[in-house]
Amino acid sequence: MVHSQCASLAGTRRVTMPRAQRATSAKTRGAVRVNAGLSVDLKGKKAFVAGVADDNGFGWAISKALSEAGAEVILGTWVPALNIFETSYRRGKFDESRKLSDGSMMEFAKIYPMDAVFDNMEDVPEDIATNKRYAGNEKWTVSEVAKCVEEDFGKIDILVHSLANGPEVAKPLLETSRKGYLAAISASSYSNVSMIQHFGPLMNKGGAAISLTYLASEQVIPGYGGGMSSAKAALESDTRVLAYEAGRKWGIRVNTISAGPLGSRAAKAIGFIDKMINYSLSNAPLSEKPLNAIEIGNATAFLCSPLASGITGATVYVDNGMNIMGAAGDSASFQ
Ligand code: NAD
Repeated sequence: MVHSQCASLAGTRRVTMPRAQRATSAKTRGAVRVNAGLSVDLKGKKAFVAGVADDNGFGWAISKALSEAGAEVILGTWVPALNIFETSYRRGKFDESRKLSDGSMMEFAKIYPMDAVFDNMEDVPEDIATNKRYAGNEKWTVSEVAKCVEEDFGKIDILVHSLANGPEVAKPLLETSRKGYLAAISASSYSNVSMIQHFGPLMNKGGAAISLTYLASEQVIPGYGGGMSSAKAALESDTRVLAYEAGRKWGIRVNTISAGPLGSRAAKAIGFIDKMINYSLSNAPLSEKPLNAIEIGNATAFLCSPLASGITGATVYVDNGMNIMGAAGDSASFQ
């Protein structure tokens, strides 16, 4: 069977449920209600979400919202993070956050190992190919994952890029090495180009791709260094160009969400996320509560639904309105 060739999470390491059960679960799941008589309905749609390795980040919340809306969710998880994610999943660590509004549990149709920094096996250097954190996994480059998804699931409708990495993010741009800068661009921007290149041909017309960006692309956020601000600027520019090219070529839409601060694993690694959350709470137009990841999930579900059929090439802000502020209301100057 073709399936077994792509069973990259072979044997015990694959998290799947039977096809019939998947279909029932997707069919019976409620749609996200946004308005009386108008709902985000993704029943029958298949989504590939890259960048989920725990239940704290945007990728998880996006998967949850897509599941709530009835979509079938397939994951691509970074190879070095896969083992711990899969073990935690099996041990029930995420059970509480897997619960959907109708009482059912979010299920992933399949989890593929993936490293979005590599397009083909020929690109993979010896030190990664022989790294023990990659041992036992195969077919994890972008082109191979896309091929496996096509073999296992056929066409998909939704593509989510919820990943970034900047090894020198804690360094100011003035101190960032060429290697660190290019690594940030490769993992955080080109990875999105590569995903759309390789998954575009297997997307149904009317499908949609989403990535996650950050305000540092257009305004200075001290501390968001290592070329990550440049990477987000590239991501937003690429969103517009890819929207044009992929729209013309495959009839799909390409958007990016500029998200407000969230204390995810990646954000904690940068070191000042709590300050950014507090700053936003003090200064954003909406200041009742910190941003909740599910708000990005819900916006993604909308943007990937037919309700957003006329939206493409957009940077959509989901940040409690922080992006519109030109002055910090809590500055000592205003006291
Ligand atoms: P996260 O830690 O939940 O997600 C980042 C994911 O990227 C992780 O699962 C990690 O395993 C994966 N990853 C890293 N390198 C990879 C690679 N080479 N191949 C495949 N996967 C790889 O953190 P998050 O904050 O939810 O990040 C998701 C997206 O949201 C990122 O693009 C991030 O820049 C963006 N974002 C985050 C914030 C924030 O405050 N957290 C704000 C705006 C935008």
